[in-house]
Amino acid sequence: MDDLRSAAPATRVVHGGAAPATPGAPYLAGPVFAAPYHAPGDPAASPFTYGRFHNPTWQAYEEALALLEGGPCLLFPSGMAATSAVLATLVPPGGTVVMLAGSYYTTRVLATQAFAGGWLQAQGVTVRMLPPDGAKATTLLEGASLLWLESPTNPELAVCDIAALAAQAHAAGARVVVDNTTATPLLQQPLALGADVAVVSDTKAMTGHGDLLLGHVAVRDAALLEPLRTWRTRVGAIAGPMEAWLAHRSLATLDVRLQRQCDSAEALAEWLAAHPAVRGVRYPGLASHPQHALAARQMRRFGGVISFELPNAEAVARCFGVMRMVREATSFGGVHTSAERRARWGGDAVGEGFVRLSVGVEAVEDIRGDLARGLGAV
Ligand SMILES: *Cc1c(COP(=O)(O)O)cnc(C)c1O
Repeated sequence: MDDLRSAAPATRVVHGGAAPATPGAPYLAGPVFAAPYHAPGDPAASPFTYGRFHNPTWQAYEEALALLEGGPCLLFPSGMAATSAVLATLVPPGGTVVMLAGSYYTTRVLATQAFAGGWLQAQGVTVRMLPPDGAKATTLLEGASLLWLESPTNPELAVCDIAALAAQAHAAGARVVVDNTTATPLLQQPLALGADVAVVSDTKAMTGHGDLLLGHVAVRDAALLEPLRTWRTRVGAIAGPMEAWLAHRSLATLDVRLQRQCDSAEALAEWLAAHPAVRGVRYPGLASHPQHALAARQMRRFGGVISFELPNAEAVARCFGVMRMVREATSFGGVHTSAERRARWGGDAVGEGFVRLSVGVEAVEDIRGDLARGLGAV
């Protein structure tokens, strides 16, 4: 493909980052395993020198990601490695971060209490929590250096207005980061909506097979890439070549996986909302979702995650106890349908019977059948 930039996302995920069509070469170059590379004389004369600095397998995947995000990307060994790199490089000592209250639990912990005494706090950084509805954003953003958003949030699936909040943040002189893990760049484009940085845990739907952890950062202004790259090189938070290659291989099916997951999730959300054992179904694609209209404007489709409530922890245990296909597991976005009672971890502002359901790519009637069996035991 000559001009992938004008191709549809479904095409970009298949061809992005591929090597030129060389006779005898595979479609996707295999993983390159190297700590040192051959590098005689002047290091600048070798494209690769040492494995902590660069790796052609990362580069190929980063190239494919950049084509989806609309800005250059850097790969990290997990979503949290990507998150911590952004917080470490974009918040100056003494700066202020405004963080959406429903952001991913570990991100909130990292920002407010990581390491003894607080990592950011030790740098004099203040963290202010932004209510989920964005109320008082203007006041909270006064003097801030960074606004951290997540939409839809995991696991509550709250949707915030990225473009409007980004405009407010920019007016206050703050940069804007969006954790785009639940949507992926195929369903939502933070950089196009006005964010400066997108962070994604590639562990989830991006790669979708439940067999690796990775994360990436995309930036609108290429100048932001260098401090992130320096952080990655110095801290040594680098991805393994095997994981990077597996991710790139899995990326080709992202569009078809998401199509199926979104189709099934839309149908299942309606079905769950009408089920007598279930309350409080949350799915951005449901007309009853408080930010449905906003989600419809801001997202291409609504994703594969649904949350709902059963009366209590015992009810969830009875439901999970009889399901045969839906796995009880954390994480989401994969080809296998899974569900989890989130309150078993603590940390999220959810009730004891709150369930996060991640819709996989199995036939929707089989997923519905297994859920019906589970809910029948409630
Ligand atoms: C899982 C997740 C992360 C962290 O990603 P890891 O790959 O587990 O480090 C960050 N943000 C969101 C929204 C997530 O769901």
